Amino acid sequence: MKATTPALILKPGREKSLIQRHPWVFSGAVDRVVGEPAAGVTVAVYSAGGEFLAWAGYSPVSQIRARVWSFQKEEEIGPDLFRERLKSALRWREKLISPEETNAMRLVHGESDGLPGLVVDRYADVLVVQILSSGAEYWRRDLVSLLVELTGIETIFERSDVDVRGLEGLPERTGLLSGRNAPERLMIYEEGIRYEVNVQTGQKTGFYLDQRRNRARLKAYAEGREVLNCFCYTGGFTLSALAGGASHVLSIDSSGEALLAGRQNLALNGLPEDRAEWLEGDVFQVLRKFRDQARSFDLIVLDPPKFAPTVAQAERAARGYKDINLLACKLLRPGGVLFTFSCSGGISPALFQKIVAGAAVDAGAEMMVVERLAQGPDHPVSLYFPEGEYLKGLVCVKQ
Ligand code: SAH
Repeated sequence: MKATTPALILKPGREKSLIQRHPWVFSGAVDRVVGEPAAGVTVAVYSAGGEFLAWAGYSPVSQIRARVWSFQKEEEIGPDLFRERLKSALRWREKLISPEETNAMRLVHGESDGLPGLVVDRYADVLVVQILSSGAEYWRRDLVSLLVELTGIETIFERSDVDVRGLEGLPERTGLLSGRNAPERLMIYEEGIRYEVNVQTGQKTGFYLDQRRNRARLKAYAEGREVLNCFCYTGGFTLSALAGGASHVLSIDSSGEALLAGRQNLALNGLPEDRAEWLEGDVFQVLRKFRDQARSFDLIVLDPPKFAPTVAQAERAARGYKDINLLACKLLRPGGVLFTFSCSGGISPALFQKIVAGAAVDAGAEMMVVERLAQGPDHPVSLYFPEGEYLKGLVCVKQ
């Protein structure tokens, strides 16, 4: 260790997770800080016994006090390392996702791609970036020029307007990072379906890219079916269902803006508008009303927003999931299919399945799982960072 290198010395025994290559150093694990590192500066992390563990980006106010850039002592943290990490991330997407499948995908998935706190989504010829940690914030200029260099894409827009920036002591921020004109409405395609995406005001970075292959999967179940798409956003699953031959799709969302975009997407694809109905409302209330009216459907999609970002909120979230799944089980006709999802990091796939099972019991429905779904391969999960696995889904058939 050079005399000038700031460092974190951990409490005895707290080196275990780093030895297992988990990339986070929690504040409670830190015994003392050597030097006075500013936010984002790279620090060396040592065990209580003085053993080198990792290089990490320091975050003075966050509970996640540092995020690991590298476990190699010889590594120099800087643009050359980031170039290699980005190249590898891009190479895998190229191998796994063909231009026939889509022109919109996640290029960098934070910790799972060895770049903690950095999210990069591509929408046609535009990149949208989220910077979620002090370490990534510190290197933002380098990361942006590397992205231009490696993708050849000039227009990069920042959508760091997310709560978690607050936990890092960072202000929310949006705006153009590179290029001349801030993009607004962009045309993307996915499995033969086109969508208009507003990367400036849309949810997340504009679109729920993580559900791409699951939307495509829905097509196989849709032929001739009457579909209820809950939490439809801009019509992702709605359009897949219609493209798969659904006889009718009722789509519900609380956002009027999202529903308007959904209608426009439907028209854009020349899909039968008379088979689609859009309803602005609260899914929890609408499902209750439908139950009281004894309405029924052949295929129901439940893709709610994140109820539990962390394990701490899991219990409350579980009640929310159970509630909507119970109602959906009741509304399904015999032989009907339920596509049910949770994107809560705090709910494991096993727990989610338990919740859905509990809902089915209480609904008095005999359900079997025919498929298990997850986020697409452009949202990989590092084996050392299970938190990266957040989206899980079950396809259940009612007997
Ligand atoms: N299935 C969509 C993504 C859904 S994201 C796709 O494939 O693109 C979750 C959606 O739920 C958002 O559009 C949000 O506006 C909506 N939402 C959140 N709470 C809601 C509620 N209580 N009732 C109805 N919609 C809600």
